[in-house]
Amino acid sequence: MNGPTLVLGGGVTGMHVAIALAELGLGSVLVEKSSQLGGLVPRLSRTFPFFDDDGFNDGAEFAGQIEAEMGARSEIDVRLGTVLTGVEGEFPEFRATFSDKSQEIVSTIVVATGFEPFNPYELEEYGYGRYPNVVTGPELEWLLNPRGPTRGELRRPSDDKHVDRLALIFCVGSRNRRIGAPFCSRICCSYSTKQALTVLGRHPTAEITCFYMDIRTYDRGFEEMYSMAQERGIRYIRGRVSGCKELPGGDIVVRAENTLVQKIFSSSFDMVSLSTGMRPCKDVEQLARVLRIGRVPDGFFANPAWFHHPHDSTREGVFVAGCAMGAKPIRNCIVDGSAVAARIAGLLRREGATSGPVRDANQSSRPVATR
Ligand SMILES: Cc1cc2nc3c(=O)[nH]c(=O)nc-3n(C[C@H](O)[C@H](O)[C@H](O)COP(=O)(O)OP(=O)(O)OC[C@H]3O[C@@H](n4cnc5c(N)ncnc54)[C@H](O)[C@@H]3O)c2cc1C
Ligand code: SF4
Repeated sequence: MNGPTLVLGGGVTGMHVAIALAELGLGSVLVEKSSQLGGLVPRLSRTFPFFDDDGFNDGAEFAGQIEAEMGARSEIDVRLGTVLTGVEGEFPEFRATFSDKSQEIVSTIVVATGFEPFNPYELEEYGYGRYPNVVTGPELEWLLNPRGPTRGELRRPSDDKHVDRLALIFCVGSRNRRIGAPFCSRICCSYSTKQALTVLGRHPTAEITCFYMDIRTYDRGFEEMYSMAQERGIRYIRGRVSGCKELPGGDIVVRAENTLVQKIFSSSFDMVSLSTGMRPCKDVEQLARVLRIGRVPDGFFANPAWFHHPHDSTREGVFVAGCAMGAKPIRNCIVDGSAVAARIAGLLRREGATSGPVRDANQSSRPVATR
């Protein structure tokens, strides 16, 4: 009998991998670096594409449901505040060492360590870090969250003034060769449109302007959300923003070239949100080294068998899922979780191996309590 699967990361992807494995009768050890589960999702004010003005689909509620489902499964051993520090051996018998010096024999490993939002501080033209009323998309998300600092009411950081004029600048930190980020982050058009609709739903007189390069709302329900935003009066201006400038009093002037009509646009706003793109998780280099797995040019973990086995990493027995492979919406992370569990079940069956209870690496056949 082989060890359980080691799942790295306790966001919605990692939790769903563990649940899907349990449904197949397979055990797992889920290791989360922080002190809580859920990753970014509990901070989301609402979750596209299934939301309405009644405020259903609160991120924390959704993550809480998955966490409760996981907590009810005896096949899953959760360890918070822990990271992987070493791996020896090969599939289907890896010996994993953790930050608390404990060791575990595991049959397979799933990397579900998610992503980090891009920090726009280095893009000086936007004034992030210098102008308090220039915030990032994830910061706006938290400001709009009823559990956040203003209970979801949009007030600007410098003076608590109600935000009546909001600008959202898309593609900040993505599709930008100058900073070595030519890729599209895929979810920021949708999350920004969701944010614009959320603000308008709460402040019907708010004037909201989105500056975009192209709109990439590609999935089912996303394009409809974009159409709804336009119908409700959210203004979309196609153009490159050349910069933001703070006025005395805290307002922000945004200057852009409207590339559809070839005109320079300049207007002032109470607040500006930078729709920042995604970067690999902070530990990506350490994890790639310890696990001996490859990465793609944008820095995320590689999945070379893209068509046949899209969650296989470059090393047998190690898999990647969710935003550890690149930014994607929650729904796709859940699909990844199920797919990777099915792949592991198939591989273990091929090996004639089954995944049993957690075993202490130093006492090879004796099941041990792990918490
Ligand atoms: C502003 C914003 C708004 C969004 N709105 C929506 C929306 O409305 N609808 C939607 O579908 N999607 C939305 N998304 C996308 C959504 O947040 C992601 O799909 C989701 O968070 C991905 O889950 P994940 O588990 O893959 O990664 P994460 O949420 O990033 O979770 C990864 C987990 O791994 C942990 N971890 C990191 N490194 C390690 C390590 N070395 N060892 C152990 N654990 C580690 C982290 O602490 C974290 O708990 C939004 C994203 C942003 C930025
Ligand atoms: S999803 Fe939209 S905002 Fe994000 S990088 Fe792609 S085009 Fe730009």
